[in-house]
Amino acid sequence: MYDELIAALDAERVLQTPLALHVYGRDAGVYRGQPAVVVLPETTAEVVRVVEIANRHEVPVVARGAGTGLAAGAVATEGGIVLVTTKMNRIEEIDPDNRTALVGPGVINLDLSKAAEPYALHFAPDPSSQAACTIGGNVANNSGGPHCLAEGSTVNHVLALEVVLADGSVAMVGSAAPDPIGLDLRGLLVGSEGTLAIVTKILVRLLPNPPDVRTLLCSFDSIADAAATVSGIIAAGIVPAALEMMDQAITRAVENWLHAGLPTDATAILLAEVVGDTAAVEAEAKVMAEVAHAHHARDVRMAADDSERALLWKGRKAAFGAVAQAAPNYYLHDTVVPRTRLVETMAKVYEIGARHELQMLNVFHAGDGNLHPLMVFDASVPGMTEKVQQAADELVAACVAVGGVLSGEHGIGREKRDLMPLMFSATDLDAQARIKETFDPHNRFNPGKVLPTGARCFDLGASVPPGAWV
Ligand SMILES: Cc1cc2nc3c(=O)[nH]c(=O)nc-3n(C[C@H](O)[C@H](O)[C@H](O)COP(=O)(O)OP(=O)(O)OC[C@H]3O[C@@H](n4cnc5c(N)ncnc54)[C@H](O)[C@@H]3O)c2cc1C
Repeated sequence: MYDELIAALDAERVLQTPLALHVYGRDAGVYRGQPAVVVLPETTAEVVRVVEIANRHEVPVVARGAGTGLAAGAVATEGGIVLVTTKMNRIEEIDPDNRTALVGPGVINLDLSKAAEPYALHFAPDPSSQAACTIGGNVANNSGGPHCLAEGSTVNHVLALEVVLADGSVAMVGSAAPDPIGLDLRGLLVGSEGTLAIVTKILVRLLPNPPDVRTLLCSFDSIADAAATVSGIIAAGIVPAALEMMDQAITRAVENWLHAGLPTDATAILLAEVVGDTAAVEAEAKVMAEVAHAHHARDVRMAADDSERALLWKGRKAAFGAVAQAAPNYYLHDTVVPRTRLVETMAKVYEIGARHELQMLNVFHAGDGNLHPLMVFDASVPGMTEKVQQAADELVAACVAVGGVLSGEHGIGREKRDLMPLMFSATDLDAQARIKETFDPHNRFNPGKVLPTGARCFDLGASVPPGAWV
């Protein structure tokens, strides 16, 4: 198989050294896989050839962008070929009149918004990892970000996809028309985590940059007051562009590193941003400040200019990097609860951390109830990983128990695969597995992900010895 892959691509883009297999053996989460070989195609035709070779040798293909995923989506837990899209990174066209861009899956999220900047346009999904993650990864995980509260997650910004199917054929789904006819396969493939098809081109919608913006930094003596402010702002009829909460532990870590001007003596802070016409943002910022004061905010500060605003956002978006000061490993969780259950869920999060003697730091998209409890730990301590896993499972169960869901944006991958029955009945899972079977009858694309073992008559999670095919 190795020789065939080299003939299809070239030797420099077919990697099999122990170092390459190690580097591409994991994503930003805690799982490790064992790819047999790593390939870096540059074109759709090369992706087709790789899929055909995989079919001949009956091995899995795991699509991978930048590997910033946190749910082991891009981890080759069943071995096989890891297909990395980072060389498919051309922005083929920006069409300012139609406000669209045609991009390769390996284009880095932030690079697209930078390229669209001269036209006063941007790509709305802005994961905190946007300086590294790819648009293909965003599509596969239906990623969100701080500014997705008002503008929606990736699925709302994808018009059409070119995909390579499991038999090696190339299909187009969706179209430039905003309301395409036929079955909405675009909607089905966005968020399918590399299990149904490999995305090779993406037509995305670009949004105009807002004329004006106001960013408030509100600090509180309690999580409850900060959470009540979140609900109060929404209840006041405002849909902020972003509404992010950070607790004291994460704020201190960020300040210690970046000096972004965040108050380290507050128990919780809120970053609230509104965008639009000047008159509208002035009025909305005033209402948000009033709501914060009504909920005992100790301080409400408005970013004075673009550079202060950028610094505040840098503090927020770099928060996960800041935790490296605390311990060598972290486990970043992703669940969603109804906004009205934020306070009790946060109390539960801290209780779980205390009971397992784990430091729990919190920074999250409060506006849509998307929690990101982050546990720092040292994996070299015997029994620590099991303890973290136990706490993580309890976190998910607590969120689901108050009407929440398993994941807000990081996806299911391998990480939460076996928790799917918490949310879905056997019939629900069977319906999803039928879709998988239709697209990928030989379970070639990203096996062992998303759907739990036994979700359908054939065993989608079945394990094959890693690396056995090469
Ligand atoms: C510090 C940090 C902050 C983060 N912040 C956010 C955030 O705010 N919001 C958010 O939503 N996520 C966030 N994430 C998670 C992650 O960055 C996103 O899920 C991102 O979209 C993954 O992109 P990637 O290119 O790294 O994909 P990868 O990790 O390489 O892959 C992710 C999934 O996509 C599949 N995939 C990748 N490319 C393709 C393709 N071309 N065709 C088919 N399937 C493909 C893979 O098989 C895998 O299942 C964060 C991660 C980190 C480490």
